[in-house]
Amino acid sequence: MAESPSASPCPQPASASAESEPLRLLLVEDNPADAELVAEYLELAEALEVETRRAARLEAAIEAGRQGLVDAVLLDLGLPDSSGLATVERFLAEVEEVPVIVLTGQADADTGVAAIQLGAQDYLLKDQLDPDLLGRVVRYARERVRVQEEQRLLAAAFESAHAIIITDADGIIQRVNPAFGAVTGYPAEEVIGCTPAVLQSGCHDTAFYASMWQSLERQGWWSGEVWNRRRDGTLYPQWESITALHDRRGEVTHYVAVFHDISEQKRLEQALSEQATHDRLTGLLNRGRMEELLADEHERLRRAGGTSALLLLDIDHFKAVNDTYGHPTGDAILRTLAECLIGRVRRVDRVSRWGGEEFVLLLPETDADGAETLAEDLRRTVAALEVPPVPGITLSIGVAALDPGEPLDPTLQRLDDALYAAKAGGRDQVSRAGPPGEPGA
Ligand code: GH3
Ligand code: MG
Ligand code: MG
Repeated sequence: MAESPSASPCPQPASASAESEPLRLLLVEDNPADAELVAEYLELAEALEVETRRAARLEAAIEAGRQGLVDAVLLDLGLPDSSGLATVERFLAEVEEVPVIVLTGQADADTGVAAIQLGAQDYLLKDQLDPDLLGRVVRYARERVRVQEEQRLLAAAFESAHAIIITDADGIIQRVNPAFGAVTGYPAEEVIGCTPAVLQSGCHDTAFYASMWQSLERQGWWSGEVWNRRRDGTLYPQWESITALHDRRGEVTHYVAVFHDISEQKRLEQALSEQATHDRLTGLLNRGRMEELLADEHERLRRAGGTSALLLLDIDHFKAVNDTYGHPTGDAILRTLAECLIGRVRRVDRVSRWGGEEFVLLLPETDADGAETLAEDLRRTVAALEVPPVPGITLSIGVAALDPGEPLDPTLQRLDDALYAAKAGGRDQVSRAGPPGEPGA
């Protein structure tokens, strides 16, 4: 669906829009003359944009506050349904997070001070009211609203699914968020006062941490992968970003580290790269990967010399096995054979599933005689394998030395010819390829 042409991802700067919105002020005053005077002063006050709503009773004020209709309240204490400090107390108990400026009677500063102790933000003496003072106090209330909102926003960000650590300039942990506990297993009280070194796994050397600190000093931030240790001792990888906070003089005051566990992500990456290089059925290397390894080995022999060998194995009459016992049995045999091959070769040997029921083995530092000996061993071992319900399977095997003087393709052709010769010779046998440039034996 096409986006509407008027839609803009950023219609106007957020701060500008907040600035232009008038402060919603609730004037709670039962005396009409006093209410008029305050309203008039609010109009006269400079640099103050307010939208005033009025209430004459405390209950009405509480109702408006609860409905979220007000940003600040000018509250007269003597109302028809409440009087004195009980008015502030009640309002603050019922309406949270709306700053209250108390209006008190003549020269009653004591009550004003007591109101502040109860949680009011400020007080104004009615007989000393003037537009400037009123403007200042209300502007301050507005600023307070903004700061509170920012604090709520920060508090919400602190509830992030990512773990957060805040340290002082010496790296001593001051605060952690709930996600920190979820990722690391440490409750806040166990790490506050410690350094993040409690999480260190021992996986990174001092140079790693030195370069992290160097980056924090030079550019004020660092990000990267870190292996840490959970409270239960298990290791896990995390992606971490650390930012240095500075004061006006440029001195570091805090470090904020944000991180999350990336074990699952790494497991997926690992699985993906496995899929790209391995055969799904047998878990052996796939043909693509083996072709790369052959090219690398060919190149290595061309530079450094030496001998390596190749085996091409093919199950005899496998089609008949599938036809008689079913494809799932055929699959099980392919897996059993793969395990058997892996179990018989050296660690340096590489085993691949080259095609349906064909396998190519790369045997580094092995000459044709050695390769033929292994091939014979594999042939006999497989012939003796028990693979119920199938009476048994046999292999035909071609053997060829990897010749650095010959390109790979003709070598693979000679290997294939050798296998064909083994099949033609009656199957369940090993056949060695002829020398380069000549037809197979
Ligand atoms: P030969 O002795 O000449 O090698 O006979 P063959 O039947 O083994 O040879 P052919 O190439 O005619 O058939 C290979 C069979 O391998 C055909 C196919 O059904 C089977 N095959 C290939 N891939 C798979 C697989 O992934 N699973 C199973 N179960 N069978 C497979
Ligand atoms: Mg085949
Ligand atoms: Mg076959």
